[in-house]
Amino acid sequence: MQELQGALPQERIEQLKVHYKEVLSLLGEDTEREGLLKTPERVAKAMLNLTKGYTMDPHEVLRSAKFQEEYSQMVIVKDIDFFSLCEHHMLPFYGKAHVAYIPNGYITGLSKIARVVDIFSHRLQVQERMTLQIKQCIQDTLNPLGVMVVVEARHMCMQMRGVEKQNSVTTTSDFTGAFNQAKTREEFMNLIRNS
Ligand SMILES: [Zn+2]
Repeated sequence: MQELQGALPQERIEQLKVHYKEVLSLLGEDTEREGLLKTPERVAKAMLNLTKGYTMDPHEVLRSAKFQEEYSQMVIVKDIDFFSLCEHHMLPFYGKAHVAYIPNGYITGLSKIARVVDIFSHRLQVQERMTLQIKQCIQDTLNPLGVMVVVEARHMCMQMRGVEKQNSVTTTSDFTGAFNQAKTREEFMNLIRNS
């Protein structure tokens, strides 16, 4: 990974192609049949896209749109759709993220919160860490009175392999500051459930 950091995307695509072709072959496929000829390149490009979050700095996204504002009520961005890849199986997990924070002199653009979710989800992840990273990024950058993140997701590595009930949803949450109070967490949970 390290020495690949500086490589041009095209060089990385070329290198990934070679490996994905080998993987197809090891899976017992005929890599020369028509439908598969361009598959290694397509997979290489898709995987680079799905992991593009490594090259982006979510802290910078928030810092670039940080505004001084006296508003001190809860700000909620709910139903942020995301798609990620579990780092154990490299299979998708996807769902919704809900974020709330209570400003302490600074707010950010609402779309920037969704961008933060987007960046962290475009990396190999586990749902628990992604939840924590989103929370920590907002806490570190905006220094709010509190931040809370709830993530609800379906994991293909469980569903496709029949490990769990087909429609089970995994929920994770993490919070800081004012959200240590049960009443504040309840207010947020009520607001994301109603409507
Ligand atoms: Zn998995």
